[in-house]
Amino acid sequence: MVAVPQNARCYVEISRSRIAANYRAVRDAVSPGGVIGVVKANAYGHGAVEVARVLASEGIGWLGVSSVEEGVTLRTARLTQRILVMAGVMKWEFEAVREFGLTPVVHSLDELQEFNERGPLQVHLKLDTGMDRLGTLAPAREIADALAKAPQVTVEGLLSHFASATDFSSEQTPEQIRMFHRKAAELKQLGVAPPLMHFASTNAVAYPRRDSWLSMVRPGHAIYGYVSPARGPAPAPVFQVKPALQWRARIVTVKEVPAGARVGYGGSYVTEAPARLAVLAAGYADGVPHRLSNKGRVIAGGRFAPMVGTVSMDLTTIDITQSPQLKPGDEVTLLGSEGSVSLDAQQVAKGAGTISYSVLCGISARVKRFYTD
Ligand SMILES: *Cc1c(COP(=O)(O)O)cnc(C)c1O
Repeated sequence: MVAVPQNARCYVEISRSRIAANYRAVRDAVSPGGVIGVVKANAYGHGAVEVARVLASEGIGWLGVSSVEEGVTLRTARLTQRILVMAGVMKWEFEAVREFGLTPVVHSLDELQEFNERGPLQVHLKLDTGMDRLGTLAPAREIADALAKAPQVTVEGLLSHFASATDFSSEQTPEQIRMFHRKAAELKQLGVAPPLMHFASTNAVAYPRRDSWLSMVRPGHAIYGYVSPARGPAPAPVFQVKPALQWRARIVTVKEVPAGARVGYGGSYVTEAPARLAVLAAGYADGVPHRLSNKGRVIAGGRFAPMVGTVSMDLTTIDITQSPQLKPGDEVTLLGSEGSVSLDAQQVAKGAGTISYSVLCGISARVKRFYTD
């Protein structure tokens, strides 16, 4: 059987030109600054190698991943861009960093020493400016001293990460920016002046926090077509992007049930009137959030159809009483659009009490990925 969407029970279709257009929208907004295209977590479910190739063909210079393993995957696919490993390197991965030409983000001064013992290396140093997650809290003087003791290590870049860039009712973001600039200035006085500095991801670009754009920005979500909603008195977004991924599943079976039918595990949904149900070839093992049980909806036959009963591992039941033409083998849309009706990851996330990032990353490996131009 040929691997085409026509033969898949449950699949996503990703538009390369949409990824490219989203990337260009961000790039043009921050120009002349550069862009690190964040393709961690299999490019938020979109396929890291395929997305990286699109970005490479657009001329991107840097890719961002979480782990050494993700970086190795890109190198093995012959991506030649600089690759920034953002979420830490384990001791047993130090050799692979060199072997595959990856650029690690260093989060502690101890790590500088450990890299130093293994020969020359360019790294980016992360400052914790108030998120209290990764990044060093050390004063500038200690950082400069540690670097003096690590002559093999060159700090090529200085970075930080925002905790609440969409929230314009909070002072946290301006405080983080002030702290970054203060620390960078102190380091400069001590002779530490990395050529690259980067801070902003999607939200700090979209709702322009221009004094954080620096030499490069690190968008992920925007490349896939999303900007999170803002809180408080936010300025309008400075670029427009559209979702690049559509997610579809086939109908396995259709059945008529009488009023009073108890649908699915636990009998949590009881039909009030006779209904026509369709069972879909997608469940929580594919990434349909279980929290959408009795709450979510899909697009079926060009209109919204509600999920009824609990989402099971491999199957989800919907009510298609309004679309009697649908039959087994037909496809419905979990994310994307049919005609003028559309459903995106932010809407789905809202119903499931989660965030769009989690919905996209949750689309499991079992769901086949197809690419269109
Ligand atoms: C994931 C990540 C990004 C990208 O964030 P988006 O909100 O998807 O743009 C940028 N920087 C770091 C350090 C990250 O972990």
